Amino acid sequence: MAKSKAKPQTVLKFIGGINKDRIGGNCSVLEHTDETGKTERIMFDLGSMFTPYESGFVSAYPNVDEYFDRTDLTTGETHKAAKPVNMLFITHAHEDHIGALINYTKMGYKLPPIKASGFTRNFIRLSFAAEGMEAPEMEKIKAGDVIEAGDNIKVEAVNVSHSIIDSLGFNTVTYNKGKPYASIINNGDFLTEEEMPVGNSFNKKDYLETLKRTKAPTTVICMDSTSTTPHGSERIGFNKAVENTYNVIMERPSRSLIISPVISRSVQNMAIDIAVARKLNTKVWLDGKWLETVKYAMALSGYLDFDDVIYKGSIQGYLSDKGISRKYIICTGAFAQGLENYEYNLGIDATSPIPMASATKMALDLHPYVKIDKNVLVLARQRIIEEINGRTGPKMLQLLASQGAEIVMTPGSRHVSNFKEVQMQDSGHANAKAVKLLMTDVKEVVPDIIVIPIHGNPEQCRNTEEIMSEIGVKTYVAGNQEGLEIGQGKIVNIEPKITPLTWYAAKIIMPTPSSERDIPAEGIREYWEVTEDYQPIQKICEVQNPARGYNRGKYSNHEKKLEQAESLPYREKMRKTSKRIKKAYDLRKKLDKRSR
Ligand SMILES: [Zn+2]
Repeated sequence: MAKSKAKPQTVLKFIGGINKDRIGGNCSVLEHTDETGKTERIMFDLGSMFTPYESGFVSAYPNVDEYFDRTDLTTGETHKAAKPVNMLFITHAHEDHIGALINYTKMGYKLPPIKASGFTRNFIRLSFAAEGMEAPEMEKIKAGDVIEAGDNIKVEAVNVSHSIIDSLGFNTVTYNKGKPYASIINNGDFLTEEEMPVGNSFNKKDYLETLKRTKAPTTVICMDSTSTTPHGSERIGFNKAVENTYNVIMERPSRSLIISPVISRSVQNMAIDIAVARKLNTKVWLDGKWLETVKYAMALSGYLDFDDVIYKGSIQGYLSDKGISRKYIICTGAFAQGLENYEYNLGIDATSPIPMASATKMALDLHPYVKIDKNVLVLARQRIIEEINGRTGPKMLQLLASQGAEIVMTPGSRHVSNFKEVQMQDSGHANAKAVKLLMTDVKEVVPDIIVIPIHGNPEQCRNTEEIMSEIGVKTYVAGNQEGLEIGQGKIVNIEPKITPLTWYAAKIIMPTPSSERDIPAEGIREYWEVTEDYQPIQKICEVQNPARGYNRGKYSNHEKKLEQAESLPYREKMRKTSKRIKKAYDLRKKLDKRSR
């Protein structure tokens, strides 16, 4: 490689996250070439995307084949990455930002070293453990940490507010001859609220300070555009959400069982239920596999904010406890997961690898313990997102209502039946007003800043563009797989969008009486390369699903131990749970000592 007169260059490439029709699959790569011709790369997020049911695929992932080494599962051959990345930075633990990690590992890829916050790291570890897999190499980082991500790339972490705790934004500066060349800020999903109910919050002063300190000849902010509709509803904030939810419950004294389906990792929204339960002087039950994982990831990360309100014991004990007059179940199912699979008979049973959320089971009268009747009040706080739960969400609520439950919804773009609407929750993403206010202040610090709208469908990204033009901030609306050169005060497209763009996608094959081949009871996960419209191109590999259910393999023991440890005090609990969790707990103790 030429050792002199190389042209310095910083290139940003979105592999996913700015999709033609739906949100998800967030992933971007930042590549910097210095004056000696040396090229280094880092990656941000590696999420999955909800696929339309008719596609036959359960989820899709950004195609990052050229960035990771891979061992072929059948031949054992190792393929070296054409464009290796030094590190992978994770903004937060939502599925659309981390969901592809486990799937890439299953496909035989080696993930680069990961940098993530405490909760994010613990959540990823537990997710891998639940599938009986070894977690990837991960280092815990926090706001203020500056990571040398290469000879000429530095990344500083900042706190951002979001519906999940411990969310980070990343401010990357590339260098040329020791001087800042470009600065790229990736906030992930974020809110500008400065006081979140649990954990760290966005701090505008710190954020602006960081921007000032890392100013480069070109500064770019990748802006969450999920909720920047021009006439979006006003935010009500945490306290009002608690008050409104409490009032909905108090106005219905005969409804003795309250069901609140949540997005399992949106801890800040669960905090609303917890605060309401405290006001009601009752205990809550968390129902659903992912809520269990969230609870343990919180405990491992030192967040015991919900501990006093969570019922210690079994669900049978909880439901029959005469001392608790108003029962409050926080459960999975905000997106009615599993409903379509059930309708199309894709094999839902105790060992099925197709997840069915707790609220979906209740709606279908398949829940082993919770029966829906006229004593039930359902708090449907999650808004309907057309491409995710547009078809299943309303149907699940109607099924619950048909069994006697009363449904109260947070108003959104869609009304369902004649269900009463009360605003009980805000979006986890900044609205147009908040983004405008923040960027007006940012402009004071970095007048020539350029915004790239991300994490939205094309219409949402254009909304952000419009807001920015109102306050005189330049924008660049990008697409997936475009190579954007960031330098000399501008963004130039140097690599047009590849056509056709491809995703990797997973398909679940279950045994049927007419199966032509031997398929284990747990089913097989097939990985395919697919087009943008989810048309299969080629099969990459297949792996067996992990065994589920009791008395079956490693995972069942792990789950059983967690259950047995449930009623023990925190420290004791951690010691008695599975080896993997113990390892995580010990590591945390060590890190705590080190940081003291
Ligand atoms: Zn998110």
